[in-house]
Amino acid sequence: MLEKSQHREQVLGFEIKFRNGMARVGAIHTAHGVFDTPIFMPVGTNGNVKLMRADQLKQIGVGILLGNSYHLAVKPGLDVIKLHGGLHNFMGWKGGILTDSGGFQVFSLRELRQINDDGVLIRSPVDGSKMFLTPELSMEIQKVLGSDIVMVLDHCPGPKESYEEALRSLKRTQQWADRCLKYGVKEGQMLFAIAQGGMYEDLRRLSAQGLSELPFDGFAVGGLSLGEEFEKTLYLTNVTVESLPSEKPRYFMGGGSPELIVHLVEIGVDMFDSVFPTRLARHGTALTFKGRLNIKSAKFKNDLDPIEGECDCVACRNYSRSYVHHLLDRGEVLGGILLTNHNLRFMMRFMERLRQSIFDGTFLDLKKEVVDSYAKSESDKFCYDSADSTLSG
Ligand SMILES: [Zn+2]
Repeated sequence: MLEKSQHREQVLGFEIKFRNGMARVGAIHTAHGVFDTPIFMPVGTNGNVKLMRADQLKQIGVGILLGNSYHLAVKPGLDVIKLHGGLHNFMGWKGGILTDSGGFQVFSLRELRQINDDGVLIRSPVDGSKMFLTPELSMEIQKVLGSDIVMVLDHCPGPKESYEEALRSLKRTQQWADRCLKYGVKEGQMLFAIAQGGMYEDLRRLSAQGLSELPFDGFAVGGLSLGEEFEKTLYLTNVTVESLPSEKPRYFMGGGSPELIVHLVEIGVDMFDSVFPTRLARHGTALTFKGRLNIKSAKFKNDLDPIEGECDCVACRNYSRSYVHHLLDRGEVLGGILLTNHNLRFMMRFMERLRQSIFDGTFLDLKKEVVDSYAKSESDKFCYDSADSTLSG
Protein backbone atom coordinates (compact mmCIF):
# COMPACT_ATOMS: atom_id res chain seq x y z
CA MET A 1 0.00 0.00 0.00
CA LEU A 2 2.44 2.64 -1.12
CA GLU A 3 1.03 6.03 -1.90
CA LYS A 4 2.94 8.63 -3.82
CA SER A 5 3.27 11.99 -2.18
CA GLN A 6 1.61 14.62 -4.29
CA HIS A 7 4.52 17.02 -4.11
CA ARG A 8 7.57 14.98 -4.98
CA GLU A 9 8.71 11.55 -5.94
CA GLN A 10 9.19 10.62 -2.31
CA VAL A 11 7.18 7.48 -1.69
CA LEU A 12 5.76 7.32 1.80
CA GLY A 13 3.69 4.55 3.24
CA PHE A 14 3.60 0.97 4.43
CA GLU A 15 4.03 -2.29 2.59
CA ILE A 16 3.35 -5.77 3.88
CA LYS A 17 5.88 -8.21 2.46
CA PHE A 18 4.84 -11.41 4.12
CA ARG A 19 2.08 -12.71 6.40
CA ASN A 20 2.08 -15.72 8.66
CA GLY A 21 -1.20 -16.08 10.51
CA MET A 22 -1.96 -12.57 11.78
CA ALA A 23 1.74 -11.72 12.12
CA ARG A 24 3.29 -9.77 9.28
CA VAL A 25 6.67 -8.56 8.06
CA GLY A 26 6.64 -5.23 6.30
CA ALA A 27 8.44 -1.97 5.77
CA ILE A 28 7.57 1.59 6.57
CA HIS A 29 8.77 4.11 4.01
CA THR A 30 9.57 7.51 5.54
CA ALA A 31 11.31 10.63 4.30
CA HIS A 32 14.39 9.51 6.28
CA GLY A 33 14.60 5.91 5.18
CA VAL A 34 12.80 2.62 4.81
CA PHE A 35 12.54 0.54 7.99
CA ASP A 36 11.60 -3.10 8.39
CA THR A 37 8.68 -4.01 10.63
CA PRO A 38 7.92 -5.27 13.21
CA ILE A 39 10.13 -2.51 14.55
CA PHE A 40 11.22 -1.40 18.01
CA MET A 41 11.74 2.36 18.46
CA PRO A 42 13.81 3.66 21.40
CA VAL A 43 12.54 6.71 23.28
CA GLY A 44 14.43 10.00 23.12
CA THR A 45 12.08 12.27 25.02
CA ASN A 46 14.37 15.29 25.27
CA GLY A 47 16.05 14.93 21.88
CA ASN A 48 18.39 12.18 23.00
CA VAL A 49 18.17 8.53 23.91
CA LYS A 50 19.69 8.52 27.38
CA LEU A 51 23.43 7.71 27.42
CA MET A 52 23.55 7.15 23.65
CA ARG A 53 24.90 9.26 20.80
CA ALA A 54 22.99 9.37 17.52
CA ASP A 55 25.86 7.72 15.59
CA GLN A 56 25.88 4.84 18.10
CA LEU A 57 22.14 4.35 17.65
CA LYS A 58 22.65 4.11 13.91
CA GLN A 59 25.50 1.64 14.35
CA ILE A 60 23.33 -0.55 16.56
CA GLY A 61 20.67 -0.68 13.87
CA VAL A 62 18.06 1.71 15.24
CA GLY A 63 15.85 2.96 12.42
CA ILE A 64 13.24 5.19 14.04
CA LEU A 65 13.32 6.84 17.42
CA LEU A 66 10.80 8.79 19.41
CA GLY A 67 10.73 12.43 20.32
CA ASN A 68 8.23 14.16 22.54
CA SER A 69 6.49 17.22 21.10
CA TYR A 70 5.29 18.68 24.35
CA HIS A 71 8.57 18.36 26.25
CA LEU A 72 10.63 19.67 23.32
CA ALA A 73 8.25 22.60 22.86
CA VAL A 74 8.83 23.53 26.52
CA LYS A 75 12.60 22.93 26.45
CA PRO A 76 14.54 23.97 24.42
CA GLY A 77 11.48 25.60 22.79
CA LEU A 78 10.47 25.70 19.15
CA ASP A 79 12.63 28.74 18.33
CA VAL A 80 15.78 26.77 19.07
CA ILE A 81 14.57 23.79 17.02
CA LYS A 82 13.68 26.15 14.16
CA LEU A 83 17.19 27.61 14.22
CA HIS A 84 18.48 24.13 13.50
CA GLY A 85 15.91 23.46 10.80
CA GLY A 86 14.16 20.69 12.73
CA LEU A 87 14.72 17.95 15.28
CA HIS A 88 16.82 15.73 12.99
CA ASN A 89 19.50 18.40 12.66
CA PHE A 90 19.18 19.51 16.29
CA MET A 91 20.01 16.05 17.59
CA GLY A 92 22.29 14.96 14.75
CA TRP A 93 20.06 12.06 13.74
CA LYS A 94 19.53 11.14 10.11
CA GLY A 95 17.10 8.27 10.65
CA GLY A 96 13.37 8.30 11.23
CA ILE A 97 11.66 10.21 14.02
CA LEU A 98 8.20 9.64 15.40
CA THR A 99 6.88 12.32 17.72
CA ASP A 100 4.22 11.86 20.35
CA SER A 101 1.61 14.59 20.22
CA GLY A 102 1.56 15.47 23.89
CA GLY A 103 -1.47 13.23 24.34
CA PHE A 104 0.35 10.97 26.74
CA GLN A 105 1.05 13.97 28.98
CA VAL A 106 -2.72 14.43 29.20
CA PHE A 107 -2.59 11.18 31.16
CA SER A 108 0.81 11.33 32.86
CA LEU A 109 0.60 14.97 33.96
CA ARG A 110 -3.07 14.72 34.93
CA GLU A 111 -2.36 16.51 38.21
CA LEU A 112 -1.02 19.44 36.19
CA ARG A 113 -3.63 19.81 33.50
CA GLN A 114 -7.17 20.97 32.80
CA ILE A 115 -8.95 19.55 29.81
CA ASN A 116 -11.95 20.51 27.72
CA ASP A 117 -13.13 19.83 24.19
CA ASP A 118 -10.92 22.58 22.75
CA GLY A 119 -7.68 21.27 24.17
CA VAL A 120 -5.69 20.78 27.32
CA LEU A 121 -3.98 23.30 29.56
CA ILE A 122 -0.73 21.77 30.82
CA ARG A 123 1.52 23.25 33.47
CA SER A 124 5.08 22.17 32.83
CA PRO A 125 6.67 20.12 35.61
CA VAL A 126 10.02 21.51 34.38
CA ASP A 127 9.53 25.24 34.62
CA GLY A 128 5.89 25.80 35.60
CA SER A 129 5.08 27.43 32.25
CA LYS A 130 1.58 26.92 30.91
CA MET A 131 0.63 25.73 27.43
CA PHE A 132 -2.86 25.34 26.03
CA LEU A 133 -2.28 22.40 23.75
CA THR A 134 -4.87 22.02 21.01
CA PRO A 135 -4.89 19.49 18.17
CA GLU A 136 -3.84 22.33 15.83
CA LEU A 137 -0.97 23.46 18.06
CA SER A 138 0.25 19.88 18.40
CA MET A 139 0.30 19.57 14.59
CA GLU A 140 2.15 22.88 14.31
CA ILE A 141 4.76 21.82 16.87
CA GLN A 142 5.32 18.56 15.01
CA LYS A 143 5.68 20.46 11.74
CA VAL A 144 8.47 22.52 13.28
CA LEU A 145 10.09 19.39 14.69
CA GLY A 146 9.86 17.87 11.21
CA SER A 147 9.15 14.37 12.48
CA ASP A 148 8.56 11.63 9.92
CA ILE A 149 5.59 10.19 11.77
CA VAL A 150 3.26 12.65 13.46
CA MET A 151 0.78 11.52 16.10
CA VAL A 152 -2.64 13.13 16.55
CA LEU A 153 -3.42 14.76 19.87
CA ASP A 154 -5.53 12.32 21.86
CA HIS A 155 -7.13 12.10 25.27
CA CYS A 156 -5.60 9.10 27.00
CA PRO A 157 -7.79 8.04 29.96
CA GLY A 158 -6.30 6.35 33.01
CA PRO A 159 -6.69 2.58 33.46
CA LYS A 160 -9.18 3.03 36.32
CA GLU A 161 -11.45 5.51 34.51
CA SER A 162 -15.23 4.89 34.54
CA TYR A 163 -17.09 3.80 31.42
CA GLU A 164 -18.63 7.27 31.03
CA GLU A 165 -15.26 9.00 31.30
CA ALA A 166 -13.64 6.55 28.88
CA LEU A 167 -16.48 7.20 26.43
CA ARG A 168 -16.05 10.96 26.79
CA SER A 169 -12.30 10.76 26.14
CA LEU A 170 -12.94 8.46 23.18
CA LYS A 171 -15.32 10.97 21.57
CA ARG A 172 -12.87 13.78 22.24
CA THR A 173 -10.05 11.70 20.73
CA GLN A 174 -12.14 11.13 17.62
CA GLN A 175 -12.94 14.86 17.26
CA TRP A 176 -9.32 15.84 17.85
CA ALA A 177 -8.11 13.27 15.29
CA ASP A 178 -10.47 14.83 12.77
CA ARG A 179 -9.14 18.32 13.57
CA CYS A 180 -5.53 17.11 13.20
CA LEU A 181 -6.38 15.62 9.83
CA LYS A 182 -7.97 18.87 8.68
CA TYR A 183 -4.97 20.90 9.88
CA GLY A 184 -2.69 18.55 7.97
CA VAL A 185 0.98 17.66 8.05
CA LYS A 186 3.74 19.01 5.86
CA GLU A 187 5.29 17.33 2.88
CA GLY A 188 7.22 14.23 3.84
CA GLN A 189 5.29 13.61 7.07
CA MET A 190 2.83 10.83 7.83
CA LEU A 191 -0.03 11.15 10.29
CA PHE A 192 -1.12 8.38 12.67
CA ALA A 193 -4.35 8.28 14.70
CA ILE A 194 -4.57 6.83 18.21
CA ALA A 195 -7.36 4.48 19.27
CA GLN A 196 -8.46 4.81 22.89
CA GLY A 197 -11.46 3.38 24.79
CA GLY A 198 -9.99 2.69 28.23
CA MET A 199 -10.41 -0.83 29.57
CA TYR A 200 -13.74 -1.39 27.82
CA GLU A 201 -13.98 -3.82 24.96
CA ASP A 202 -16.91 -2.18 23.16
CA LEU A 203 -15.32 1.27 23.46
CA ARG A 204 -12.03 -0.07 22.10
CA ARG A 205 -13.89 -1.35 19.07
CA LEU A 206 -15.89 1.85 18.67
CA SER A 207 -12.76 4.02 18.78
CA ALA A 208 -10.84 1.88 16.29
CA GLN A 209 -13.78 1.68 13.89
CA GLY A 210 -14.44 5.42 14.03
CA LEU A 211 -10.82 6.31 13.28
CA SER A 212 -10.53 3.66 10.56
CA GLU A 213 -13.01 5.60 8.47
CA LEU A 214 -10.56 8.48 8.20
CA PRO A 215 -7.55 8.46 5.83
CA PHE A 216 -4.71 8.18 8.33
CA ASP A 217 -1.34 6.70 7.34
CA GLY A 218 -1.31 4.43 10.38
CA PHE A 219 -3.07 3.65 13.63
CA ALA A 220 -1.84 3.40 17.18
CA VAL A 221 -3.23 1.52 20.15
CA GLY A 222 -3.05 3.99 23.02
CA GLY A 223 -3.93 3.90 26.71
CA LEU A 224 -2.71 0.39 27.43
CA SER A 225 0.30 -1.02 29.27
CA LEU A 226 -0.51 1.44 32.06
CA GLY A 227 -0.45 -1.13 34.85
CA GLU A 228 -3.42 -3.32 33.92
CA GLU A 229 -3.04 -7.11 33.91
CA PHE A 230 -0.94 -8.55 31.08
CA GLU A 231 -3.85 -10.64 29.77
CA LYS A 232 -6.03 -7.55 29.60
CA THR A 233 -3.38 -5.67 27.60
CA LEU A 234 -3.28 -8.51 25.10
CA TYR A 235 -7.04 -8.92 24.89
CA LEU A 236 -7.86 -5.23 24.45
CA THR A 237 -5.06 -4.79 21.91
CA ASN A 238 -6.47 -7.68 19.93
CA VAL A 239 -9.97 -6.21 20.04
CA THR A 240 -8.55 -2.90 18.77
CA VAL A 241 -6.36 -4.42 16.06
CA GLU A 242 -9.27 -6.47 14.71
CA SER A 243 -11.14 -3.24 14.08
CA LEU A 244 -8.28 -1.46 12.27
CA PRO A 245 -7.58 -1.64 8.53
CA SER A 246 -5.23 -4.55 7.90
CA GLU A 247 -3.16 -2.79 5.21
CA LYS A 248 -2.08 0.09 7.48
CA PRO A 249 0.68 -0.03 10.11
CA ARG A 250 -0.38 -0.69 13.71
CA TYR A 251 1.63 0.81 16.51
CA PHE A 252 1.37 -0.22 20.16
CA MET A 253 2.31 2.84 22.22
CA GLY A 254 4.53 2.59 25.26
CA GLY A 255 5.20 -1.13 25.50
CA GLY A 256 8.41 -2.91 24.68
CA SER A 257 9.23 -5.87 26.90
CA PRO A 258 10.15 -8.96 24.83
CA GLU A 259 7.21 -10.93 26.29
CA LEU A 260 4.75 -8.23 25.32
CA ILE A 261 6.22 -7.71 21.87
CA VAL A 262 6.18 -11.39 20.97
CA HIS A 263 2.52 -11.69 21.96
CA LEU A 264 1.49 -8.56 20.07
CA VAL A 265 3.47 -9.35 16.92
CA GLU A 266 1.52 -12.60 16.80
CA ILE A 267 -1.76 -10.66 16.52
CA GLY A 268 -0.46 -8.26 13.87
CA VAL A 269 1.13 -5.28 15.64
CA ASP A 270 3.98 -3.71 13.64
CA MET A 271 5.53 -0.96 15.75
CA PHE A 272 6.61 -0.61 19.38
CA ASP A 273 8.27 2.01 21.55
CA SER A 274 9.33 1.90 25.15
CA VAL A 275 11.78 3.24 27.69
CA PHE A 276 12.00 -0.36 28.92
CA PRO A 277 15.45 -1.42 27.58
CA THR A 278 17.18 1.88 28.30
CA ARG A 279 15.70 2.30 31.77
CA LEU A 280 16.47 -1.31 32.71
CA ALA A 281 20.05 -0.72 31.58
CA ARG A 282 20.44 2.28 33.87
CA HIS A 283 19.17 0.09 36.71
CA GLY A 284 21.81 -2.56 35.97
CA THR A 285 19.67 -5.13 34.17
CA ALA A 286 20.62 -6.74 30.85
CA LEU A 287 18.17 -8.25 28.36
CA THR A 288 19.20 -11.52 26.74
CA PHE A 289 17.53 -14.35 24.84
CA LYS A 290 17.76 -16.32 28.10
CA GLY A 291 15.87 -13.68 30.07
CA ARG A 292 16.86 -10.71 32.22
CA LEU A 293 20.19 -10.63 34.06
CA ASN A 294 20.75 -8.35 37.03
CA ILE A 295 24.42 -7.56 36.42
CA LYS A 296 24.59 -5.78 39.77
CA SER A 297 24.18 -9.13 41.48
CA ALA A 298 27.28 -10.33 43.38
CA LYS A 299 27.23 -13.57 41.39
CA PHE A 300 28.74 -11.70 38.44
CA LYS A 301 31.70 -10.32 40.38
CA ASN A 302 34.15 -12.88 38.98
CA ASP A 303 32.28 -13.76 35.79
CA LEU A 304 34.61 -13.44 32.80
CA ASP A 305 31.91 -14.11 30.19
CA PRO A 306 30.44 -11.29 28.13
CA ILE A 307 26.89 -10.19 29.00
CA GLU A 308 25.55 -12.38 26.19
CA GLY A 309 27.89 -14.67 24.25
CA GLU A 310 26.38 -14.30 20.79
CA CYS A 311 25.84 -10.51 21.01
CA ASP A 312 27.93 -8.27 18.75
CA CYS A 313 27.50 -5.05 20.77
CA VAL A 314 30.40 -2.92 21.99
CA ALA A 315 29.92 -4.14 25.57
CA CYS A 316 29.85 -7.84 24.71
CA ARG A 317 32.78 -7.64 22.29
CA ASN A 318 35.10 -5.86 24.70
CA TYR A 319 34.17 -6.41 28.33
CA SER A 320 33.30 -9.08 30.86
CA ARG A 321 30.24 -9.23 33.09
CA SER A 322 32.71 -8.81 35.93
CA TYR A 323 33.90 -5.43 34.57
CA VAL A 324 30.37 -4.13 33.93
CA HIS A 325 29.37 -5.35 37.40
CA HIS A 326 32.30 -3.41 38.87
CA LEU A 327 31.33 -0.21 37.01
CA LEU A 328 27.74 -0.50 38.21
CA ASP A 329 28.92 -1.26 41.74
CA ARG A 330 31.01 1.92 41.74
CA GLY A 331 28.21 3.97 40.21
CA GLU A 332 30.29 4.70 37.10
CA VAL A 333 28.27 6.16 34.21
CA LEU A 334 30.11 3.88 31.79
CA GLY A 335 28.31 0.88 33.33
CA GLY A 336 24.95 2.32 32.25
CA ILE A 337 26.33 3.29 28.85
CA LEU A 338 27.60 -0.22 28.15
CA LEU A 339 24.35 -1.83 29.29
CA THR A 340 22.27 0.64 27.27
CA ASN A 341 24.33 -0.25 24.19
CA HIS A 342 23.76 -3.92 24.89
CA ASN A 343 20.02 -3.68 25.63
CA LEU A 344 19.26 -1.62 22.53
CA ARG A 345 21.37 -3.92 20.38
CA PHE A 346 19.49 -6.84 21.97
CA MET A 347 16.18 -5.25 20.96
CA MET A 348 17.41 -4.88 17.38
CA ARG A 349 18.61 -8.49 17.29
CA PHE A 350 15.34 -9.59 18.87
CA MET A 351 13.26 -7.80 16.23
CA GLU A 352 15.47 -9.20 13.45
CA ARG A 353 14.88 -12.71 14.77
CA LEU A 354 11.14 -12.05 15.04
CA ARG A 355 10.96 -10.89 11.42
CA GLN A 356 13.03 -13.84 10.24
CA SER A 357 10.90 -16.31 12.21
CA ILE A 358 7.72 -14.96 10.56
CA PHE A 359 9.35 -15.50 7.17
CA ASP A 360 10.60 -19.00 7.82
CA GLY A 361 7.65 -20.28 9.84
CA THR A 362 9.44 -20.66 13.18
CA PHE A 363 7.65 -17.81 14.93
CA LEU A 364 5.83 -20.04 17.45
CA ASP A 365 9.14 -21.69 18.46
CA LEU A 366 10.70 -18.29 19.07
CA LYS A 367 7.63 -17.15 20.98
CA LYS A 368 7.89 -20.19 23.25
CA GLU A 369 11.59 -19.57 23.80
CA VAL A 370 10.98 -15.94 24.77
CA VAL A 371 7.99 -16.67 26.99
CA ASP A 372 9.84 -19.49 28.78
CA SER A 373 13.04 -17.44 29.24
CA TYR A 374 11.25 -14.42 30.59
CA ALA A 375 8.93 -16.42 32.84
CA LYS A 376 12.03 -17.95 34.42
CA SER A 377 14.00 -14.74 34.82
CA GLU A 378 13.37 -12.46 37.74
CA SER A 379 10.28 -10.37 37.23
CA ASP A 380 10.53 -6.69 37.95
CA LYS A 381 8.38 -3.63 38.14
CA PHE A 382 9.69 -2.30 34.85
CA CYS A 383 7.57 -4.67 32.82
CA TYR A 384 4.89 -2.00 32.56
CA ASP A 385 6.88 1.01 31.79
CA SER A 386 4.73 3.75 30.40
CA ALA A 387 3.13 5.14 33.49
CA ASP A 388 6.12 7.08 34.72
CA SER A 389 8.02 7.57 31.50
CA THR A 390 7.06 11.19 30.99
CA LEU A 391 10.39 12.75 31.75
CA SER A 392 12.95 10.13 32.40
CA GLY A 393 13.06 8.38 29.01
ZN1 LIG B 1 25.78 -7.11 23.92
